[in-house]
Amino acid sequence: EKVEFVSFLEQIIERFEMNKREDIQFSKQLPSDNVYVWLDKDKVTQVLDNVISNATKYSPEGGTIHFAVKRVRQKLQVSIKDEGLGMPAHTVEKIFDRFYRVDKARSREIGGTGLGLAIAREIIEAHHGEIWAESQEGKGTTVFFTLPLMRQKRRGNK
Ligand code: ATP
Ligand code: MG
Repeated sequence: EKVEFVSFLEQIIERFEMNKREDIQFSKQLPSDNVYVWLDKDKVTQVLDNVISNATKYSPEGGTIHFAVKRVRQKLQVSIKDEGLGMPAHTVEKIFDRFYRVDKARSREIGGTGLGLAIAREIIEAHHGEIWAESQEGKGTTVFFTLPLMRQKRRGNK
C-alpha cells in the first residue's frame, strides 16, 4: 500500500520511546516534507522492530540511537545508528545469515535466535531495497536500508 514514510516511522519510534530504557536517548533527522513509498506495513514494521530492538539490546551502556531518513537518488535511505557493542569488521555481513550471532557467549546472555536480520533482509529485498550494516567494535553499529521511492506525481500527469 502507499505509505507516507516519515509519519509511519515516527509512530514506530514513538512506540519504542514509551517503553525504552531510561539510559537510552533517541534522536531523529527526518525530512520535513512527505515521502511516499509502496510497502507492506506489517512487514516493514517487523524490520524496524528488529533493527531498533537490536540497537537497544546490544547497547548495554545506553547511549543515543540516531534515526535518519534521506533521499539518495531514487531511493529512500533509512539508517539506525547505536553506540553499543559494535562487532568485528568480518562479521558485519554475516549478521544477515540465519542463526548467525556474533560472539556466542555474549549473545547467549542477551537472548535471541539470530533470525531477525535474516528475515529483515528477505523483507527489504522483496521490496526491491537493500539492507546492510557498518560497525566498529566497542563503538557501535549502523544499519542502513533503502526502499524505492514512489515517483512524484507532476502536474499534467495522471
Ligand atoms: P532475534 O532478532 O532473532 O531475536 P538476534 O537479535 O540475535 O535474535 P539478529 O537480529 O538477526 O538476531 O542479529 C544477528 C546478530 O547480529 C545478533 O545476535 C548480534 O550478535 C548482532 N547484532 C545485530 N544488531 C546489532 C547491533 N545493533 N549491535 C551489535 N550487534 C548486533
Ligand atoms: Mg534481533
